[in-house]
Amino acid sequence: MKITDIQVKKASFAFDKPFKISFAVLYGFETMVLRIDTDEGITGYGEAGPFEYVTGDNLDTCMVIAQAFREKLIGEDPLAIQRIHSIMNGMYHGHTSVKAAIDIACYDIAAKKMDVLLYRFLGGHNPTFVSDVTIGIRSPKEMAEECLDWKKKGFSILKIKLGEDIREDAERIKAIRSAVGDDVTLRVDANQGWTVKEAIQMAPLLTSLNVELMEQPVKDYDYAGLKYVTEHTDLPIAADESCRVPEDAAKLANMRACDAMNIKLMKCGGIEPALRINAVSEANNLWCMLGCMGESVIANTAAMHLFAAMDNIRKADLDITFFSHCDWITGGFTAKGGEITLTERPGIGIDVDGF
Ligand SMILES: [Mg+2]
Repeated sequence: MKITDIQVKKASFAFDKPFKISFAVLYGFETMVLRIDTDEGITGYGEAGPFEYVTGDNLDTCMVIAQAFREKLIGEDPLAIQRIHSIMNGMYHGHTSVKAAIDIACYDIAAKKMDVLLYRFLGGHNPTFVSDVTIGIRSPKEMAEECLDWKKKGFSILKIKLGEDIREDAERIKAIRSAVGDDVTLRVDANQGWTVKEAIQMAPLLTSLNVELMEQPVKDYDYAGLKYVTEHTDLPIAADESCRVPEDAAKLANMRACDAMNIKLMKCGGIEPALRINAVSEANNLWCMLGCMGESVIANTAAMHLFAAMDNIRKADLDITFFSHCDWITGGFTAKGGEITLTERPGIGIDVDGF
């Protein structure tokens, strides 16, 4: 099989309401939708959802780099995904979002060629799982009310954004636990907002409120600090911004700096490097979770297939399409509350209208 063309198009999405995390307020997002055509008539879709503060690239760089990749990749075999990555990595360091777009489209093509869903192509057996939904930073009362709303809509796992003043963060999480009761799973994400000592101060409260994990408490570059937090609390600690690519996962595992890695396709460059992060983690007796950036159902469903395929990826944070809607990119999965079921169609099962 040969790639005959690679086309890209910008897409924009508005959030239902502004979304605040420790280092930014987000009103919506833009992505680059990508389409790969082949000489066998099979088309694959991918998507780049860059978030410059984390991935280092942006929509403008994605559009430029995608054109450079297009020139080198036309004529290449999309099923030779290792070679595709080798060509892309030989041209540019970083630029992981656009690499993820190409990677997702190639996996979509490969699974379509085999006439199976992508999670089956990757070796999985169960198309249904539960994702959390994320609650942005607001006042304790507003966050508690929002959590209760999501619980009423059928969500059983809530990911709570914290990472501001720890006294107010403590009030937030106490108000939330008291509002939702004991039958909802809570996880927290400080998005680098705490110091090492603040994270260690917060941990006993979080443990007493039966919070299941603390994500990225300290600065992304502070591996020693992350290790110190991990060693001084019983709460599982997950690395997110500290774990972008497989080489980061190897360093974190060597240092025993965390208990888990939060994989995102946009941080690492797609499914192939994500599989390597998971392999490094599993071989070091660490588990993974799978998160998302601002993305449509294209990249989000690709991540869902990866989640459904890999036993060691244990927690899903694949909630972006619960807050953002798009009428021309559809399909992929159905959701009942937080319970997601992948749609019975080959590849990632996406329709892109007019592209
Ligand atoms: Mg995170």
